Amino acid sequence: NPKNSSHNFSSTCSYCGVGCGVIVSKEKNNTLNLKGDTHHPTNKGMLCSKGLNLHYTVNDRSDRLLYPQMRYNKNMPLQKVSWDDALNRTAAVFKTFIQKYGPNSVAFYVSGQCLTEEYYVVNKLMKGFIGSNNIDTNSRLCMSSAVVGYKMSLGEDSVPICYDDIELADCFYVTGANPAWCHPILWRRVEAHKALNPDTKIIIVDPRVTDTCSIADLHLQLNPGTDVTLNHAIGRLLIENGDIDIDFITNHSEGFEAYKQMVFSKTLEESALICGLAIADIQLAAQYIGEAKGFISMWTMGLNQSSIGVNKNLSLINLNLITGKIGKPGSGPFSLTGQPNAMGGREVGGLANMLAAHRDLQNPIHRKEVQDFWGGTQIDPKPGLTATEMFDALDNGSLKAIWIICTNPLLSLPNVRQAEQALKKAKYVVVQEISNKSECLAYADVILPAAGWAEKEGTMTNSERRISYLPKIVDAPGEALPDAEIIYKFAQKMGFSGFDYKNQEEIFIEHTRLTANTNIDISGLTYDILKKEKTVQWPYIKKKNKGTERLFTDKSFYTPSKKAIINTVPDVNKSEAPNEDFPFILTTGRIRDQWHTRSKTSKVNKLNQHIKQSFLEIHPDDAFKLQIKEDDVTIIQSKFGEVRVKAKITKSIKQGVVFLPMHYGKILGNDLNRTNNVTSTLVDAISKEPDFKYCAVQVSKY
Ligand code: SF4
Repeated sequence: NPKNSSHNFSSTCSYCGVGCGVIVSKEKNNTLNLKGDTHHPTNKGMLCSKGLNLHYTVNDRSDRLLYPQMRYNKNMPLQKVSWDDALNRTAAVFKTFIQKYGPNSVAFYVSGQCLTEEYYVVNKLMKGFIGSNNIDTNSRLCMSSAVVGYKMSLGEDSVPICYDDIELADCFYVTGANPAWCHPILWRRVEAHKALNPDTKIIIVDPRVTDTCSIADLHLQLNPGTDVTLNHAIGRLLIENGDIDIDFITNHSEGFEAYKQMVFSKTLEESALICGLAIADIQLAAQYIGEAKGFISMWTMGLNQSSIGVNKNLSLINLNLITGKIGKPGSGPFSLTGQPNAMGGREVGGLANMLAAHRDLQNPIHRKEVQDFWGGTQIDPKPGLTATEMFDALDNGSLKAIWIICTNPLLSLPNVRQAEQALKKAKYVVVQEISNKSECLAYADVILPAAGWAEKEGTMTNSERRISYLPKIVDAPGEALPDAEIIYKFAQKMGFSGFDYKNQEEIFIEHTRLTANTNIDISGLTYDILKKEKTVQWPYIKKKNKGTERLFTDKSFYTPSKKAIINTVPDVNKSEAPNEDFPFILTTGRIRDQWHTRSKTSKVNKLNQHIKQSFLEIHPDDAFKLQIKEDDVTIIQSKFGEVRVKAKITKSIKQGVVFLPMHYGKILGNDLNRTNNVTSTLVDAISKEPDFKYCAVQVSKY
């Protein structure tokens, strides 16, 4: 029963994009307990190790920021101040910069952990009232290549599939993802489906042997950066074998002939050599896909975080398009969202190049619609600074002030030492945070304490477009406030009208009204409906009072021609190839029991037990040549910086490739543990997503 009693509350796990339902109970001493929600359509009661321990991150408040702090100049120490003082002074500083240098001299850098209402209100403030598009999110580091991939193929950033398609598919092509560790409950559903239907084929594409491979029928351990080559080779074989959907290609898509020419420009032998794979394995993958009635392609950061992230996405989505495996039960391209509400952020236009409700910043009609709705200033057609561009702009002095909400860029950005130098140069830094651990606090002129999960209400959208309501269950500690409230109070201090919200629901209702008559229409949806229905997948059909499980069932896409676009992409890897000085390819990723920058998971002893510290995965033959033994301290150097961690020697990684977990930052001020010291500054030309999966490095024994 979704109804909340005075002690039990239906909510959603706030870690990954799977979006599992949880039942939270409040004990007499105000501490929380938690279990999986057996009635939730996503997880049916299951939770992974992170979700099972989520309540401890609220119960342990030892690291929480409790009151606003401020310093009047860079030489002064931070001191406790009132909310009014902190926001009044920040408004005065922002007004001064905007007056002197223009609206693009300030920026907000937010997070896929923010609730939709928080995302909405900060976007409205920045794009609609300050008059700058300098509002970007750490989802830029995560899903922006998938966003562009969907837009270019389907006409809009729209995940076509629902989780219930898992049980209807008979072939999964999982590429650039380790869902057994990173989207565990979703993967449990795939495992259970495979166990009941052993003929279901699972193809895993990954340079590493991960836990996900344990149920694979075929593991394609390709060379990093060769995904487009592989997808093209499979596309060619599907065409050669006649395993394509001629009716779909002819009547519901565009671009097939150019695509065909491209995929036939390389022989299978050439592709196999580039990918480092056996010809027979590529043929087997094409055979599995070709024979499937239901085919799901599944991917995440291995494709997105690349200098050719968009091309990798497009080459993969093409496999669903040429086989007509989209808009049907058990079929479709399916991006696994990294963060819990990256989708909600995208819905309200939470990237520097987007507008609310999937409207297009470049479209003057769309700009006018949003501008008229908000009643603020003229919306600038020029995209704002993206995540990495903001730090470049701080470095060169064109950006004066940055407001960081719910994210720790001094751990998560590539080439992070340079980002740290840039933040040091900023004229004014606001850090809105729950934890006193963030490295950014050292550079803050103002620290604003925020409420965390279960301490505020709002909504999130998971990887299958499923919106859920999260209740406030306990009061936030000290003077901490919900992020949306901080932002709308600041907007009021700036003198802007339209920010006199009384609660989160008023923001939600305003957001839903702005979606009316768009492809993500949720107008008519309320907190009451969400509480009653538990969750709703957008678009929400008012007349039927229900959501939409699957998109494009009528084969009508969101492009001007209503046809899906088969994009022809070049087969060129733009990452910097290994060379004599830096002969290894470094790739980075998540580990099972830590979440991103560890501000929450590192508080939970049980989670720290799984893997206690950072490590370098290296192949035994490479380790032998470098005289590195298990647990030896290794030095990993790139042209950007250096990391020192212990070696973990394993055959599960390809020769010539090394792996570092992404989660680790400074220890007691020492940054040599910090993975992103070495990662590359390259980004995808369109999505501007950084290339975390391919960086030329040198490895040596310390
Ligand atoms: Fe939370 Fe993701 Fe684990 Fe589900 S799979 S419990 S959403 S971390």
